[in-house]
Amino acid sequence: MSEETQAKAAAGADAPQSSQAASGPGAGPRGAGRPAGGQGGRGKFFRRKKVCKFCTDKLDTIPYRDVKLLQQFVAERGKIVPRRLTGVCTTHQRRLTRAIKQARNIALLPFATRH
Ligand SMILES: [Zn+2]
Repeated sequence: MSEETQAKAAAGADAPQSSQAASGPGAGPRGAGRPAGGQGGRGKFFRRKKVCKFCTDKLDTIPYRDVKLLQQFVAERGKIVPRRLTGVCTTHQRRLTRAIKQARNIALLPFATRH
């Protein structure tokens, strides 16, 4: 009788890791939970690339019926946003102004929102 040692190594040692839900990350002393955020709050408006949108899109004429487009350049109260805030070039700002005014006349945009 030959005993064959069947080396049945249990392949894959199962090590069931019990989830240790004991301590969360950073179990420090309570209270002092404010990270020192040293953000330089300089830019009131976050700086955007000052590239004329219409130049990049190669829009020669500004569609005055495109309300969604125009509304990007109209402030909440209905005012036209100045060029230096939007970054639109002079040429397009002029056309944009016309477009907005046209849109106002056909009641697509408000002249001024009521309070
Ligand atoms: Zn332009």
